[in-house]
Amino acid sequence: MKAVVLDGYTLNPGDLSWKALEAMCETTAYDRTAYDISGLDLIIERVGDAEVVFTNKTPLTAEALKAMPNLKFIGVLATGYNVVDVDAAKAQGIVVTNIPTYGTDAVAQMAIALLMEMCHHAGAHSDAVKKGDWTNNVDWCFWNYPLIELAGKTMGIIGFGRIGQATARIAQALGMKVLAFDSYQIKELESVTLKYVELDELLAQSDVISLHCPLFESTKGIINKESLAKMKPGAMLINTSRGPLVVEADLAEALNSGKIAGAALDVVSSEPIKADNPLLIAKNCIITPHISWAPKESRQRLMDIAMDNLSHFINGKPINVVNK
Ligand code: NAD
Repeated sequence: MKAVVLDGYTLNPGDLSWKALEAMCETTAYDRTAYDISGLDLIIERVGDAEVVFTNKTPLTAEALKAMPNLKFIGVLATGYNVVDVDAAKAQGIVVTNIPTYGTDAVAQMAIALLMEMCHHAGAHSDAVKKGDWTNNVDWCFWNYPLIELAGKTMGIIGFGRIGQATARIAQALGMKVLAFDSYQIKELESVTLKYVELDELLAQSDVISLHCPLFESTKGIINKESLAKMKPGAMLINTSRGPLVVEADLAEALNSGKIAGAALDVVSSEPIKADNPLLIAKNCIITPHISWAPKESRQRLMDIAMDNLSHFINGKPINVVNK
């Protein structure tokens, strides 16, 4: 059986192995192919007569699938599978699988790392020291930003699923109180330091707001002019979920006006970030290049699940199928 990996580089930039796939299939792994349909011809050419394809962000549209008559299995190397036209795949009898979860702890850890950076600016202070600012300082210490202690403060978590709950556990260990907003509530999770509230109460009461809900029509732009206006003056925002949850022009305005004290974002509306994104020049805004998912441990887990998905498919008992 032939397998093609269309864009394997971000999952495996060289520190993991395709050996498990090579053991099951005659394998060709490309680092990258095309991130939009302008690369349709190349996508079709590379898949050729393969029965198995793995994609992370390379689109497999109905038009592309039509030109892949041998294809039987698409393994999406991610949780979200919007890059595949799953209905067209189903109509052609192609099984599409995804990776439901692999990086809960890594994403929660990153949300807290971003929070820590906003509270201490360790990176910026280290840069200042290496630039000579400490050597030339009149006092024995200095700081360039307000430093913030988290114990006793309140974290509001929008979307209280796996990652939201993992983030809450770390926040509680730091001595924070947690307010959770979710359309589906698990009342047993409530405690002295954690309670479910409505969105407006969360916005009004939280010192830090962390986004962990999926991107749906109902959550798109959930952080906008109106919700920012309802936040505590001086609040901080963290987004490790999906860029379009935030109306970026509104957030840039809230940062520049000082309405909120800081934002730390691992995701933006269009990735890679566009050079004219207003957040690139907004005050007190930390931006990382969508790395929450990427510790080696998480990527290895993702690889193992992807291979397990294929192995189950080959054995006639497919799992993690998204187009049943
Ligand atoms: P999950 O499904 O366990 O939790 C999502 C929660 O959001 C659920 O409890 C759900 O009820 C809730 N929710 C749904 N609609 C809502 C709404 N309208 N308002 C409030 N809550 C709502 O998912 P998870 O594993 O915790 O992942 C959360 C998100 O994290 C993913 O959807 C993904 O966007 C993001 N993510 C980012 C990275 C990264 O590298 N930056 C990696 C993995 C996941």
